[in-house]
Amino acid sequence: MIRKLCCFLLLAFVFLPFSGSAGDSAPPYALVIHGGAGTILRDRMDLQTEQSYRAELHAALAIGQEILSGGGSSLDAVEQVIRYLEDSPRFNAGRGSVFTEDGHNEMDASIMDGRDRDAGAVAGVTNVRHPITAARRVMSDSPHVMMAREGAEAFAAEQGLEIVDPEWFKTERRWKSYLKAKANRETDPDRKHGTVGCVALDVNGNLAAGTSTGGMTLKKWGRIGDSPVIGAGTWADNATCGISATGHGEFFIRNAVAHDIAALMEYKGLSVQEAADLVIQQKLVAQGATGGVIALDRNGNVAMSFNTAGMYRGYALADAEPVVQVFKDE
Ligand code: ASP
Repeated sequence: MIRKLCCFLLLAFVFLPFSGSAGDSAPPYALVIHGGAGTILRDRMDLQTEQSYRAELHAALAIGQEILSGGGSSLDAVEQVIRYLEDSPRFNAGRGSVFTEDGHNEMDASIMDGRDRDAGAVAGVTNVRHPITAARRVMSDSPHVMMAREGAEAFAAEQGLEIVDPEWFKTERRWKSYLKAKANRETDPDRKHGTVGCVALDVNGNLAAGTSTGGMTLKKWGRIGDSPVIGAGTWADNATCGISATGHGEFFIRNAVAHDIAALMEYKGLSVQEAADLVIQQKLVAQGATGGVIALDRNGNVAMSFNTAGMYRGYALADAEPVVQVFKDE
C-alpha cells in the first residue's frame, strides 16, 4: 500500500507540471504585429528583400518588448511599434503608403484601449507623419472617436504633432506600382495588403490594439477603409481579445471582422484561434475576401490567421525568443 502511494506521488510530481495549457496562467506580457497580408510568395521574393522585411519586423517587436518588459502600457507599446512601421518605406502605412487613383497618399489609423473600449481614429489624413499618434490623441484629447481629412489634420497640428509635406510619404517603389496599376486598370496589382498593426498585453493584464494604413492602391479620393473603423479593422476589450486586421477593407467593414471575432469568443466561448479562423478562413473565404488578422486574448494566447499566400507577422512573449514569419508554410 505504501509502495503504491509512493508511486502515485512520484507520478503526480513528474506529470503535474505539464498538465496545464499555456493559457492557464497569463504571461507577464505579449505582443503581436503584422505588416500586411497578400500574394507574398517565396519564389517571387529575393533573399535580400525577405531579410530586410524580417529585420524590420524584429526591430518593431524589440521596440514593443522594451516597453512591455519595463512595465510600460500596452497602449504605449502599440503606438510606438506602429510609429516605427509607419516610418519604414517597406510597409503601406505612413511613409511608403500606396497611392489613390489621383496619385495622392491618404492615410487611416485607429487605436483602442481594452480597459474601457476607449478608441480613437483618423481617416484620410495627408500630412500627419504619424497617423497612429493622431488617432491616440483623438482618443485621449478630444470628445470624439473618429476625425477625418482637414479636420483631423488641423486637430493633429493643434496637438503639436509632426506635420510634414505630403511628399514625405511618397516612395519610388509605390509610385511605380501606382503607374503600373493605372496602366493596367487594376485596383491592386500585387494584391498585397501592406497595412501595419499591433496588439499588446501589458503586465497589468490590459490589452490594446492599433492599425495604420495607406489603404488600397487606386482607391477613390476620399475612400475610407476598415483600418480606422472600430470593430472592423481594430478591436480591444480586456474581456475577450485585441485584434488588428489587414485585407480588402470593404469586406472587413461589411463583416465587422474584428468585433465578430470578439463576439464569437464572448457569446460562443470560442478560443481566439477558433474565432479568428472561423471569420477569416470560412466567412471571408466564402465571400471571396482576402486578408488576415493578428489577435491576442487576455491570457496572451496569440492567433495569426490569414487566407492569403502570406502575411508579414511576428510575436514576442516574455522570456522567449521573438518569432517572425512571412510565408504561409512557416
Ligand atoms: N485594409 C486596408 C484597407 O482596406 C488595406 C490593407 O490592409 O492593406 O484600407
